[in-house]
Amino acid sequence: MAKKGTEKVDRDKDEDEDTRQGMLDYFKDWFQCTPSIYPPNLHDLVELKYGRVIRRGHNRVVGIKTKDYNIYDAVDAKYTKIVYEFIPMGKRQEKLEVNGSYILKKKDIQDAPWSFGSCHACWKMKERNFTDITRTPHPYQASPTEPNLSVLGGCGHVICNACVMKVERYTLEDEPYRSCPYCGNPHAFPRDLRMWCISEEVDLHYKNIMKTKTKDKNSNAEI
Ligand SMILES: [Zn+2]
Ligand SMILES: [Zn+2]
Repeated sequence: MAKKGTEKVDRDKDEDEDTRQGMLDYFKDWFQCTPSIYPPNLHDLVELKYGRVIRRGHNRVVGIKTKDYNIYDAVDAKYTKIVYEFIPMGKRQEKLEVNGSYILKKKDIQDAPWSFGSCHACWKMKERNFTDITRTPHPYQASPTEPNLSVLGGCGHVICNACVMKVERYTLEDEPYRSCPYCGNPHAFPRDLRMWCISEEVDLHYKNIMKTKTKDKNSNAEI
């Protein structure tokens, strides 16, 4: 009997591995996406209504300057880690577990280039700073609805979770992609995958917290 039980567990494990491999194959192109090295245009590229692009190309393309960074408290960031989370039918889990089965992949970016660090879509609202650890949590330590998380789109734009959720609110469940609220790319955010794009500062801060926790645990064990 016991043997039969073990066989079943093994079979389940194999099936889990097959499913996981299937998902990795399915999303493999998304794992190639990298954060754009360009800051946003000074003016909106597209106009959205109810999460859909209703107008584009209506504004002049003007690059932003240091003066604009200062006016809008904008920053640049180096994204050193991307965590790919599977979100079946667009429904995130209550909590993202470290090494949990919903994490499909983690990617470290060596020598990360400078990218924009204040949400390509809502930067003029001055609400996001993905390098500021007092404002931006690590996705492992945040609620799925935390507005300050940084999400990578297939178009390369780094958008805050609040802006992505705003588009999602108006997207039907059977639509496989959500549009980028900055550039209007209709295939920017897959319904079933979140690409958490983590700045060097947030990544480091999280690692330090974990290191302290492990140290505490060890010292407790010694007592
Ligand atoms: Zn935003
Ligand atoms: Zn975009």
